[in-house]
Amino acid sequence: MKKTGVIFCDFDGTVTENDNIIAIMKQFAPLGWENIKEQILGQQISIREGVGKLFSLLPSSKKDEITEFVLSQAKVRDGFHAFVDYTKEQGIPLYIVSGGIDFFVYPLLQGVIPEDHIYCNGSDFTGESVRILWPHACDDACGNDCGCCKPTILRRFDSSKYHKIVIGDSITDLQAAKQADEVFARDFLIEKCEENNISYTPFETFYEIIDQLSKRRLTYEHF
Ligand code: MG
Ligand code: ZN
Repeated sequence: MKKTGVIFCDFDGTVTENDNIIAIMKQFAPLGWENIKEQILGQQISIREGVGKLFSLLPSSKKDEITEFVLSQAKVRDGFHAFVDYTKEQGIPLYIVSGGIDFFVYPLLQGVIPEDHIYCNGSDFTGESVRILWPHACDDACGNDCGCCKPTILRRFDSSKYHKIVIGDSITDLQAAKQADEVFARDFLIEKCEENNISYTPFETFYEIIDQLSKRRLTYEHF
């Protein structure tokens, strides 16, 4: 049976060139935030715990300043808009699965990706410090405490029907990459794919992904 292609694309460091959470922390967090980052990357603490801790370092009163800053510094990776158009032309559903936070993910994708195709974390600025909300937490099959659980989202798509393509750059994409049919990786995710024997195609711009997907369609007709 032919499988239908579906794409799950990370946001920070993938759609945008830099990681927006890291950019926010560099600009606003007190010293010590980097220890938390290292603990996340070293998998000593979960992503949910780490990201929650990072944002709890920031006072809610800085909401406008933080939002303005993050929107002003974010740069969308080359080819992303062409890639969105390509997926529409080809009828391949494109979901953004992001460990990023709603207050910057939604505005940066406004008019490009509809909100019902974006999975990300939420935020609450009503308390003293910023609190992150987790509307897409791990299901029973994931013990990774992801925060926004990419493998949980992928599991909702029947593997016998869907050819799942994961695009990402970091540790937060690893669990999704493990159950993908095809992975496009850059940066730290390349190392992690190699460590875990996951086959991947490296990329730097979305034009390369368009090229690769176009070639595969010629070879296999429809995945
Ligand atoms: Mg990322
Ligand atoms: Zn999970």
